[in-house]
Amino acid sequence: MTPLRIGSGYDVHRLVAGRPLVLGGVTIPYHMGLLGHSDADVLVHAACDALLGAAGLGDIGSHFPDHCAAFKDIYSITLLSRCGDLLRDNGYGLVNLDATIFAQSPKVMPYAGDMVRTMSQALTVGADQINIKATTTEGLGLIGRGDGIAASCVVLIERSVK
Ligand SMILES: [Zn+2]
Repeated sequence: MTPLRIGSGYDVHRLVAGRPLVLGGVTIPYHMGLLGHSDADVLVHAACDALLGAAGLGDIGSHFPDHCAAFKDIYSITLLSRCGDLLRDNGYGLVNLDATIFAQSPKVMPYAGDMVRTMSQALTVGADQINIKATTTEGLGLIGRGDGIAASCVVLIERSVK
């Protein structure tokens, strides 16, 4: 069994009025929020997909289907925590997680430290194992127009059980 495995995740959600903006488990003051069945935390969804992908466990939709009432408006950090449990149950531990948020506005980097803390606690890993970056798309495309926010994530995991 290969001791190291890589996984990637990508997600995008539409920005709409009347919803809280939750990124990395942190509520960011803004006049719009992301639309989705859950809290639409695009960063955490990308992270869940990267973790599940690395472990060969499918994707977030197969574990937490968006037609399932149990996941309506759920705090996505709860799902991240469950993904961490799934990894451990399958004999894997996280080496590191690196993510990028694509948002024209608001500025999200002031909240990156809180996101790292929240996500590392959910995964019961050190804060130094998680890195969060942010970029705009220079006004281009759906992100640049402010129609939505996207996130990508890469993780490395290792076999923790021999
Ligand atoms: Zn999503």
